[in-house]
Amino acid sequence: MSVASAATRTVPFHVPHTADRQYAYLRQALDSGSLDGDGPFSARATELLSRLTGSRHVLLTPSCTHALEIAALLMDLAPGDEVVMPSFTFAPTASAFALRGAVPVFVDCHPDTLNMDESSLESVITERTRAIVAVHYAGVACEMREILRIAEAHGLPVIEDNAHGLGASYHGRPLGGLGGLAAQSFHATKNVHCGKGGALLVNDDGLVERATIIRDRGTNRHQYFLGQVDKYRWVDLGSSYILPEILAALLAAQLEEFDTVQKRRHAVWDTYHDRLADWASDQGVALPTVPEDRTHSAHLYHLVMPSETDRMALLRHLSEHGVQATFHFQPLHTSPAGTRHGRIAPGGCPVTERIAYRLVRLPLYDGLSDAQVEQVVNALLSFRTGAARVNDRKDPR
Ligand SMILES: *Cc1c(COP(=O)(O)O)cnc(C)c1O
Repeated sequence: MSVASAATRTVPFHVPHTADRQYAYLRQALDSGSLDGDGPFSARATELLSRLTGSRHVLLTPSCTHALEIAALLMDLAPGDEVVMPSFTFAPTASAFALRGAVPVFVDCHPDTLNMDESSLESVITERTRAIVAVHYAGVACEMREILRIAEAHGLPVIEDNAHGLGASYHGRPLGGLGGLAAQSFHATKNVHCGKGGALLVNDDGLVERATIIRDRGTNRHQYFLGQVDKYRWVDLGSSYILPEILAALLAAQLEEFDTVQKRRHAVWDTYHDRLADWASDQGVALPTVPEDRTHSAHLYHLVMPSETDRMALLRHLSEHGVQATFHFQPLHTSPAGTRHGRIAPGGCPVTERIAYRLVRLPLYDGLSDAQVEQVVNALLSFRTGAARVNDRKDPR
């Protein structure tokens, strides 16, 4: 029977942010007649993103996946070329490059930050390597100094998958502004969103012109509008990668409230971190690690349980206490498409395999009330690891 009574209503895992001005902006965008994209709201969202990331060239896209696809097109990948990335990430990080015939090469992650282990980079780079993709898991930066150093030594571009990291920093510099290219997500599950949207940040000035063309169906329409050419034509490979203006209106409204959203998310994150510290160390549970030289984006709060059985038991326990929690990425190197299109680093990804099946994400969003946070904390404090092992339940994968 459920322990959750009428008084303890279920805390949803995620509720997307609602911005005060989003309805007004949507109406304005609809009435403006400029609906296809790159209109005034797109300009506003672009400017706000530029300020947040320090990136001079921001191109709004219909998703982070599409931004990664533009990045892959910019790399001029040929079949058999290789792109190095962590196994512990979302499918599109790999799929965007595999679509161009490249082979994703999966490396393991650090057990604390869950970010790509840069010490394995040298051993996987070959003459076919064309790029390194750094995913800032949970909005905690990868070891960018080392990654950029290795990339430079091999003449490789670094692409940041910064879907989680808007607002976070590394050595005082905003994430998204560190690699030659970076991809942002404004999917409804991210800190601010427009339902589905994204952006490509182009920090390498040499790639801006082609990125603009690829995003606009492979045409030089942008140069035509600027009066640089007298007609616009098909000049390169490309696709329809411009964010519609209506979604840009929603995004602009959300980005204007970014600081408020982040303030609340950080407060919730900090509460979890403080209140769970003793319990976690007693129970052998690992809480998130944020190294001192970087700030995080409060995108997610995760626990790594001592065993898969404890993970299943905790998810069940939380559900009985009216708390929706969930797991996260399934390792790409063992996924059906990952094994077909990818290659695994020598030595495999043992850390990824260990943590992926033990990880639990807690509710974290700006709409959480203090009472809801309390409910989540109390539900966790009443859980003991190890107990479920007696029942010898087998975890489904
Ligand atoms: C959400 C996410 C994406 C994809 O974002 P979309 O905007 O939905 O395409 C890519 N990478 C990571 C790490 C993500 O979490």
